[in-house]
Amino acid sequence: MGLLDGKCAIITGAGSGFGRAGAITFAREGAKVAVADINDKTGQETVAAIRDAGGQAVFVRVDVSRMDEVERMVREAVEGLGRLDIFWHNAGIAGPGAVDNTTEEAYDLTMATHVKAGFFGARHAANAMKKSGGGAILFTSSLAGLKASRGSPVYGIAKAGLIALTKNLTVSFAPYQVRVNALCPGPAETAMWSAVTNRDSDTVDPEKSEAIARMYREKAPLGRLCDVNDVANAALFLCSDLASCVTGEILSVDAGLSVV
Ligand code: NAD
Repeated sequence: MGLLDGKCAIITGAGSGFGRAGAITFAREGAKVAVADINDKTGQETVAAIRDAGGQAVFVRVDVSRMDEVERMVREAVEGLGRLDIFWHNAGIAGPGAVDNTTEEAYDLTMATHVKAGFFGARHAANAMKKSGGGAILFTSSLAGLKASRGSPVYGIAKAGLIALTKNLTVSFAPYQVRVNALCPGPAETAMWSAVTNRDSDTVDPEKSEAIARMYREKAPLGRLCDVNDVANAALFLCSDLASCVTGEILSVDAGLSVV
């Protein structure tokens, strides 16, 4: 028996990092997963990994910064899977940098990818979930949504927006038994990490990325960073019936960084 037997899930950004680990975990626990990503190659690789392990998955190509594509993604996924129980909006991009480096275009793209896609994706998903008696919506926010940073304020503003979105949609969707929660991961060494740690440069310096990771490891009460499986396991809990009374929750997965 898996924790998600019989459930159907959409995970955005499932071609890499947290989303890929989540898709593999959800499928292992019995869910049929729509792997949604802008990157065909990595998305198809996630689908192949799930199928190789005996699970069920389909790929849906989407650019979540475009609301027509978000609408199509939910429609195609529901058609492919047959129903919808879980929507995890996890796709994200690194922030554009400090205040003076933030163009209007980059501001709009950051907000659209994280917050606007979360709002409209959740609305379409909740409408599908109402037909099956309820469901679970999850957003990947961030430690950056809880704390201020000079590095890329717009990223933090977008991630804080996802926290406000979680609370507001909790009360809007509760009458339909649709739960809404958010995860706040701390720094994790995914593909995004090298972009975040080298955002002021045209090239990636692995030593710089490692030095910043070490700094966070030393600061974290547990003396480590979170990894993709830590985040996937927290998502599994919040999207499973184990959390059937949990809604409006903002769960940190950050080795304790949010409290220091
Ligand atoms: P990642 O780069 O490994 O994965 C992000 C995925 O999102 C990629 O597969 C990418 O192709 C996809 N994506 C990007 N833009 C998209 C778009 N417009 N449409 C569809 N898919 C798109 O990064 P990750 O670290 O796994 O990030 C996942 C989420 O976690 C993001 O929302 C990120 O902001 C958040 N987060 C990351 C960290 C960290 O330190 N890595 C910490 C806290 C929160």
